[in-house]
Amino acid sequence: MRHQLPLKIGVSGLRGIVGESLTPKLAARFASAFGTYLGQGQVLVGQDSRPSGLMLKKAVISGLLATGCQPVEVGILPIPTILFLTREKQAAGAIIVTASHNPLEWNGLKFIGPEGLYLKSSQVEEFLDIFHQGEFTYVSADRLKNIMQEKQAGKLHLEKIFSRLKIKAIRKRRLRVVADCANGAGAILLPQFLEQLGCEAIFLNTELSGSFAHQSEPTPENLKELCRKVKEYRADLGLAQDADADRLALVDEKGRPLGEDMTLTIAVAHLLGRKRGPVVVNLSASMVIDDLGKKYGVPVFRTKVGEINVVEKMLEVKAIIGGEGNGGVIWPEIHPCRDSFTAAGLVLEALVTSGKKLSTLAASFPRYFMIKEKISCPTELAYRVVLNLKNRYEKKGENISTLDGLKILWPDSWVHLRPSNTEPIIRIIAEARSQVKVKKLVERFRREIKETIKKLS
Ligand code: MG
Repeated sequence: MRHQLPLKIGVSGLRGIVGESLTPKLAARFASAFGTYLGQGQVLVGQDSRPSGLMLKKAVISGLLATGCQPVEVGILPIPTILFLTREKQAAGAIIVTASHNPLEWNGLKFIGPEGLYLKSSQVEEFLDIFHQGEFTYVSADRLKNIMQEKQAGKLHLEKIFSRLKIKAIRKRRLRVVADCANGAGAILLPQFLEQLGCEAIFLNTELSGSFAHQSEPTPENLKELCRKVKEYRADLGLAQDADADRLALVDEKGRPLGEDMTLTIAVAHLLGRKRGPVVVNLSASMVIDDLGKKYGVPVFRTKVGEINVVEKMLEVKAIIGGEGNGGVIWPEIHPCRDSFTAAGLVLEALVTSGKKLSTLAASFPRYFMIKEKISCPTELAYRVVLNLKNRYEKKGENISTLDGLKILWPDSWVHLRPSNTEPIIRIIAEARSQVKVKKLVERFRREIKETIKKLS
């Protein structure tokens, strides 16, 4: 027998290897716990394109029915579409059978609460308590609901986005786009989206096979084919979604990947140009967002890394836009979640209304250089190492933030050190005004971390 890999349970749900740590029995139990937690009502059930999705979805539906919930099957859909629909339908919640960008042998469940929001950590605790205690509110046969189907989800989502865009102006420009859907759920909706925006579009990797054509993180090294095709077709831009279509990366008309941070920069700058209001981003997003806040005279709030942290703060301060530097744009007017479609809509509108080429638009922002790295270190030690560095920099009187790991800020640069919750690593993210400076910064902290690991282990 192969070594049984443990089930990973975190704030955003669970992941496991199908047939080993993730079985239909377990999926049904989790669904019953969730049904008990929600206390009946409609629960949307969606999935990504993995072949194991069907088997797990059926188990999830059973578990929900058993607790008196009414499952609504929505099929394979982008995650932002499911979150949007949960609120639109006023459903009690949603369960999504997905393992994001993990390899094909993996699958998992994501649990979405009312209003189409990811569960907060306190809600996750409550729900997991029910799961571990196994006290589910199973209903008698006469109270079992039927299963419903919902086929309009994509249409409703796109209609909402179009209602907030200058759609006529975008259509008139007839932009030429090459889009890479990474064989993920974005392929269900992106062709309609671009067609209705009058774009002449060419698509890469639109098979819903579940076998992702390349590593589905939309980072530059995974976008070589897209870059080539943008040049070959003389397109205005390239769009790259990740497998569950919540993140978006851009390629300019010269076939150069712009880096995931640029998606958020363009979206934030464009929306602030339209109207003023607070912006929320996580601690690792580029300083260019602070520059934009200053330029438009609006506050910029920083949160811990993690989509739900950004969303919660956005709702609290009534932000008009926010997101993460990994290409995750959150436009709450559509729905408070990362959404590659709202991101694409804002970028296309920014191109059209500025009349600029994408490379020119990107070059109009202050230029910074960012490096993201990781150092292997056992989880428990990783926390001690970061704490040790925190104490050292606090004593030095440096400008630091300890909201999430340790961030040290200087006038023109910063470094963010963060132990990972899910992997035995310490993340180092740094940004500066020049390539040389940011490299030096990362080298310095890599050395300091390694020395501290040696000292403490
Ligand atoms: Mg994603």
